Amino acid sequence: THSPVITVDGPSGAGKGTLCMLLADKLGWNLLDSGAIYRVLALAALHHGVDLESEEALVVLAAHLDVQFVAEGELVKVILEGEDVSLTLRTQDVANAASQIAALPRVREALLRRQRAFSEAPGLVADGRDMGTVVFPQAEVKIFLDASAEERANRRMNQLQMKGIDVNFDTLLSEIQERDYRDRNRAVAPLRPADDALVLDSTELSIEQVTAQALAYIEQKL
Ligand code: C5P
Repeated sequence: THSPVITVDGPSGAGKGTLCMLLADKLGWNLLDSGAIYRVLALAALHHGVDLESEEALVVLAAHLDVQFVAEGELVKVILEGEDVSLTLRTQDVANAASQIAALPRVREALLRRQRAFSEAPGLVADGRDMGTVVFPQAEVKIFLDASAEERANRRMNQLQMKGIDVNFDTLLSEIQERDYRDRNRAVAPLRPADDALVLDSTELSIEQVTAQALAYIEQKL
């Protein structure tokens, strides 16, 4: 049995997470946050003292990864080895470790089946970097959501400030640029729009405008 898939790829901070949550909610479809899978594997490696450069050890860890994604209203709780790690996953250290292990081809391979298992009726909204190019190349609808690095750093800074965390704009910007560079230039599954993706630039758009444009496109494609 085949259920439809909508892929949303793009760099960090372009608004994919929010867009995917709204789309999945609106359509009543399942949601895959593939970044969380890379993050949770990275966190497990940090917990177990597994070298982030040891592809072999990371593949073994990926095969035994004890993780559950538990839907709680609009949010998804991530449980690693029985522990709620949802907040820890969002830290910059885990993001950087995730981006580092995501450059390893056999690690990506080891996580493919886990990601494809999310494709269930009535449909899936998949959020990531290579959803439309590698994981779900047959997806009915592909969107690539972009935004300038400065705008993405700005949004991130506002998010952090709302949580009372004071950060330096230039530090944030350079971290975003570094992670993007690694994601766009890796040999395997580099971040790029699929040939058949709609490219949406959200730099000058509100989340409402992005959602409206995405929904209009989805309606036309499905
Ligand atoms: O999207 P998020 O920031 O949670 O992803 C963390 C890291 O995981 C990204 O910087 C990227 O290196 C990696 N990733 C990936 N492929 C995906 C999703 C995430 O390589 N489909």
